[in-house]
Amino acid sequence: MTSLPSVVIIGGGLAGCEAAWQLVKRGLRVRLFEMKPTRFSPAHTSANLAELVCSNSFRASSISNAAGLLKEEMRRLDSITMLAADKTTVPAGRALAVDRQRFSQTVEEYLTEKKPLFELIRKEVTTLPEERPLLIASGPLTSDALTEALKKMLRQDYLYFYDAISPLVFAETIDYSHAFWASRYDEGADYLNLPLDEKQYDRFWRALVEADQVPPHPFEEQRYFEGCLPIEVMAKRGRDTLRFGPMKPVGLKEPTTGRRPFAVVQLRRENVEGSLFNMVGFQTRLRWKEQEKVFRLIPGLDKAEFARYGSIHRNTFINSPSLLTRSLALRHEEGIFFAGQITGVEGYIESAAMGLLAGLSIIFYLRRQDFVPPPPTTAMGALLQYITKANKKEFQPMNVNFGLFPPLDGNVPARERGHIYARRALDELEKWKGKVWSVLEG
Ligand SMILES: Cc1cc2nc3c(=O)[nH]c(=O)nc-3n(C[C@H](O)[C@H](O)[C@H](O)COP(=O)(O)OP(=O)(O)OC[C@H]3O[C@@H](n4cnc5c(N)ncnc54)[C@H](O)[C@@H]3O)c2cc1C
Repeated sequence: MTSLPSVVIIGGGLAGCEAAWQLVKRGLRVRLFEMKPTRFSPAHTSANLAELVCSNSFRASSISNAAGLLKEEMRRLDSITMLAADKTTVPAGRALAVDRQRFSQTVEEYLTEKKPLFELIRKEVTTLPEERPLLIASGPLTSDALTEALKKMLRQDYLYFYDAISPLVFAETIDYSHAFWASRYDEGADYLNLPLDEKQYDRFWRALVEADQVPPHPFEEQRYFEGCLPIEVMAKRGRDTLRFGPMKPVGLKEPTTGRRPFAVVQLRRENVEGSLFNMVGFQTRLRWKEQEKVFRLIPGLDKAEFARYGSIHRNTFINSPSLLTRSLALRHEEGIFFAGQITGVEGYIESAAMGLLAGLSIIFYLRRQDFVPPPPTTAMGALLQYITKANKKEFQPMNVNFGLFPPLDGNVPARERGHIYARRALDELEKWKGKVWSVLEG
């Protein structure tokens, strides 16, 4: 395959390295541009490729958890992230954690062994290269110059610089006896409303202002937009601020009393199946444990389980549902692919997984064949489905969770669900792998 053109990759993070690995191990040439150590983003500090910028954990190990399942799928697809992670683990209970230095070095060593197919160019890319195929995997902290170039190519409306994520609740964990369906001013019934009386509101508000939050990184400070302030920042402005903001009760009447509630939390369906609900306007920097504690004070959410916690951080990402096909290729520009956090997935393994798929998809592209995406019943496929098919207008980054998967048939008890999702996913993955490998090896 070496007569084919080199694939140019921008960014030697988790996604860029994973894509490069999938390509070089199948005999394709890669030119990977990484700006470190000449230039570092505000969060990167090591010169190594595949740097873990914060935690050293890849989250749950068990396949009955969506993050564990995603890792197992990646193992079965010869992921370099998983090869290196399994070689450099440190004890972390039920999670898979690694020695971050050794992990990055291992990824770099595996890739370097593939020289001369693998060429590493330590240079910042400031304008978009002409060569195709081109993979952009420059991550959540893409350099300013490249961001400008992307803005021009994609138009600014499709490129974002911060995410403001509200928590997602599993529908089955909500107590509906406190809830009612309605849109404001009787214009439909699109929202599930959780009403609070004055006493419940005061208890919630106090807990919120006292809760512990994740401190912003220095490069993130005071950059909130008024339109998406963290809920705790609004709460600290005064006891009633939330009642004039995301918890405003105007235009709503409780069906049992016919009266306007004191305050309301509105939940909106996050997916077509209705298995996930978004807490509207509840973007937050509270620590995960605090989110559980405080949000469970809302009537109806006392036993809520969260598929995703709220967050706000600096994050360069594109509106993938508008821009990308299921091959992770740009719709309007031939031969340009995206992978990693910049596509709107959230997390180390999710970013690496999209790098893996982009690598495979580019091989199909070079062979002039249509890429066969993994089915949405797999963790890889569910994530791909989310970033390419989610609501374009409200697109926000997402980590892997079972709420993204097609629901299971029948009424399966909660404690068995994870295993059943996993069994179905791994069966389907093997079938898909069979099809894809036969093309790649054929
Ligand atoms: C501050 C912060 C903390 C995070 N903490 C966690 C966490 O604890 N756990 C978790 O699961 N996820 C975390 N994430 C989210 C995300 O999963 C990681 O950022 C992940 O590393 C993304 O992988 P990636 O390959 O898309 O980007 P990256 O790993 O960031 O890789 C992108 C690479 O591109 C390079 N680059 C950028 N611009 C250019 C350019 N113009 N030319 C050449 N090279 C360029 C960068 O130097 C970098 O090496 C965090 C994100 C941020 C911003």
